[in-house]
Amino acid sequence: MQPPDRSDDPFRRGPRRVPLLPLRDIVVFPHMVVPLFVGRERSISALEEAMGKGGGAGKEIFLSAQRKAKTNEPTPDEIFPVGTIGTIIQLLRLPDGTVKVLVEGKRRGIIRKFAQTDGFFQVDVEEVTEVTERSVELDAMVREIHATFESYVKLNKRIAPEILVSVQTIEDPGQLADTIVGQLQLKLPDKQAVLEMNQPSKRLARLYELMKAEIEILQVERKIRTRVKKQMEKTQKEYYLNEQMQAIQKELGDRDEFKNEMAELEERAKQKNLSKEAQTKVKKELKKLRMMAPMSAEAAVVRNYVDWVLALPWGEKSEDKLDVREAEAILDEDHYGLKRVKERILEYLAVQALVKKLKGPILCLVGPPGVGKTSLARSIARATGRNFVRLSLGGVRDEAEIRGHRRTYIGALPGKIIQSLKKAGTQNPVFLLDEVDKMSTDFRGDPSAALLEVLDPEQNGTFNDHYLDVDYDLSDVMFVTTANSLHGIPIPLQDRMEIIQLPGYTEFEKLSIAEKYLIPKQKKENGIETVALELPEDTIRSIVHHFTKEAGVRSLEREIATICRKVAREVLSKQAAGTTGAWKVTPKRLGKYLGPQRYRVGRQEGTDEIGLVNGLAVTMHGGDLLVTEVSIVAGKGKLVLTGKLGDVMQESAQAAISYVRSRGPSLGLERDFYSRADIHVHLPEGAIPKDGPSAGITMCTGVVSALLRVPVKKEVAMTGEITLRGRVLAIGGLKEKILAAHRAGIKTVILPKENVKDLRDIPKRVLKNIRVVPVEHMDEVLRIALALPETGHPLLEPSVAVDWRVPFERRELGERRDREPKQMPVATAVPPPGVEEDSDPDDRRPPGSGPLPVVGLATQDGRGPVDLLAQHHAR
Ligand code: ADP
Repeated sequence: MQPPDRSDDPFRRGPRRVPLLPLRDIVVFPHMVVPLFVGRERSISALEEAMGKGGGAGKEIFLSAQRKAKTNEPTPDEIFPVGTIGTIIQLLRLPDGTVKVLVEGKRRGIIRKFAQTDGFFQVDVEEVTEVTERSVELDAMVREIHATFESYVKLNKRIAPEILVSVQTIEDPGQLADTIVGQLQLKLPDKQAVLEMNQPSKRLARLYELMKAEIEILQVERKIRTRVKKQMEKTQKEYYLNEQMQAIQKELGDRDEFKNEMAELEERAKQKNLSKEAQTKVKKELKKLRMMAPMSAEAAVVRNYVDWVLALPWGEKSEDKLDVREAEAILDEDHYGLKRVKERILEYLAVQALVKKLKGPILCLVGPPGVGKTSLARSIARATGRNFVRLSLGGVRDEAEIRGHRRTYIGALPGKIIQSLKKAGTQNPVFLLDEVDKMSTDFRGDPSAALLEVLDPEQNGTFNDHYLDVDYDLSDVMFVTTANSLHGIPIPLQDRMEIIQLPGYTEFEKLSIAEKYLIPKQKKENGIETVALELPEDTIRSIVHHFTKEAGVRSLEREIATICRKVAREVLSKQAAGTTGAWKVTPKRLGKYLGPQRYRVGRQEGTDEIGLVNGLAVTMHGGDLLVTEVSIVAGKGKLVLTGKLGDVMQESAQAAISYVRSRGPSLGLERDFYSRADIHVHLPEGAIPKDGPSAGITMCTGVVSALLRVPVKKEVAMTGEITLRGRVLAIGGLKEKILAAHRAGIKTVILPKENVKDLRDIPKRVLKNIRVVPVEHMDEVLRIALALPETGHPLLEPSVAVDWRVPFERRELGERRDREPKQMPVATAVPPPGVEEDSDPDDRRPPGSGPLPVVGLATQDGRGPVDLLAQHHAR
């Protein structure tokens, strides 16, 4: 508390004697009207003195606070010397002897002397005159005080709004301070200190501080109040709802069920050999689940998750059978031939037996449909004693299908890899990824990228499915993949795998497979194992020729199944009639079981035709015969290509035409044959896209045949890329093509000399029936393929190389500069057979040497050829 500032205490009226009313816990300020309840004897006497005998001072009374509210009979020391001179407005005696008095503060005063202390106090009081100040600062302060008071009133509900209105009208700084201070809830010493400040500016400044502090407290109070209120409301609501839910669940009997389920999940989690990471995760999830309402959607999500984790095999493995001899027996039991694949599998098992834990390899079986890729994988599982799962990747476009969706998605599930492992039930199954070449990529990510991780032995020990979100060990899984062609498999993925080609079966292989495997299998499946059913070799051959057209044996198996089914029905009707019988299905009787023949007999029909050439192509079902047609019509030298030919094929046709034009005279063509004719080249099955350069020599032969009007031999088929100067370059897929030619009953196959090395992959029995003619130059092709007259045709003359140094107009007339023939930079045309002595005798077998058994000619079926040569070259 500050001592009163006496230096600026000018008197306005002289000191006078007035009775003193000591106040407890209240300070009365000038301009303030307050009701007081007075009970103390002494104080009542003081009031009476002021009211009645009041000599001179007329109802004046001095109001000053006592230092301690509790003191009943304060001494002069215990009373603050500074107080307020006030007047009594009203006095009311109450029945209990106390007095209610309404006083109004008038001016500040200071006790100079206690004149009488008997009964009540009389004091000599000196009036304190207000200092009047005027300054801009003070005006600003007044405004600020107004604003602050307003916000104070807003926060403090105890102050009536009318007071704010009346305060807003006060402009005098001193009066403003005194009025406001009376409204604030301050401690007595603080109020007293303000009372003792005589300078209005000082008073306002202090008041400002006090108000600010008060506002801050009020604000905090308010914040706490609202927070508490909200919290209360929320907990009350939750409590209420929970109680209600529990009551409902109790009625339905759910809660107990939930408890049982939780216990069961915990028990399962304990029994599983989970990885550490999975264990912590499951524990956490179960803890969460326990807190949840059992029927809520969140609980279902969590429960589902835990279910998935617990359903997977963790460390559960089947024991590997590592007996290589037994495995070999099993593989042979299931499949005929396929020597290379079986060997590779047995090598794998042998190494596995020695090393115990082997990383990789991942086998990729590539071949047309029905060659036994899937069933081979199944048989690997049987041979190794592992479980088997199959996952078809055909049409998978979304990375999430492999790796799963994050659990934040509604309806999220693990990826197909994890789903399949759940199905497998062990951590080391044989896992067949079927049709890896049929995956596609779109905006949802590249599934092959996810597969890369799965198939990498270095990474797949910690495969992370998005849904599970814990590492899962795939390193014990034996992955086998299959594909129809390497074309659709991304190179990095090919790199991870060991590729084994299954190019398709020859007719002889098909016969053996049918006899040893398919017929017994189908008889068993159709319940006629014990029935005497005979399918002679001729019959099977007939099925292969007339009812199927495929590289594999799937249709063959289907046809055999049809026969077995029909026989089964006949057996039953015979049994009903009380008889039994034996069945022998001869080729003649096939129609009865399988209906009319679907494909034509192997022998080529009709005669050799002009502009009709047999090409060879690799297609989805192995190789196929591709009959190319060429027609010459009146026109202006235009080349028309139809049959959905790709860019490479079109360019190859153009190269063929340029070759024909440059060799015109030596082929016996008129010089300007092209200026009067359009050439139209068409490949059949026009709806199916074809591409690749290997039809080059076929198209060229067709064009020459059409221009020369010389027929092409129908028993000849060919494949080879052509260059501008007529060189014949190597192609891919030779085995498929030769097998196709063999199936189609072709007797002579023309192929590029560079491809001779690939002939060792082709079964000897096939080669025995086909004459293979390797060539280097187009002229050779024409001599072999065209049905030329015995003598007199220019093509039968020794080939003369084109002299490229001669200007083209003269060159096309066949002119040469023969002075330095040895230095001619030409692609030499090769002389007809027999002319050159130093050629390889193997490659120059005279046409038509040796008898050629006809094997069969198939017609085109609904599926078309796609030349996959480009891809072979890419490799
Ligand atoms: P892919 O998966 O190559 O399309 P599948 O594995 O489905 O072909 O084989 C089709 C059918 O042909 C199966 O019933 C299979 O047993 C049979 N099969 C294929 N190759 C042979 C073979 N070499 N020996 C015995 N059966 C075979």
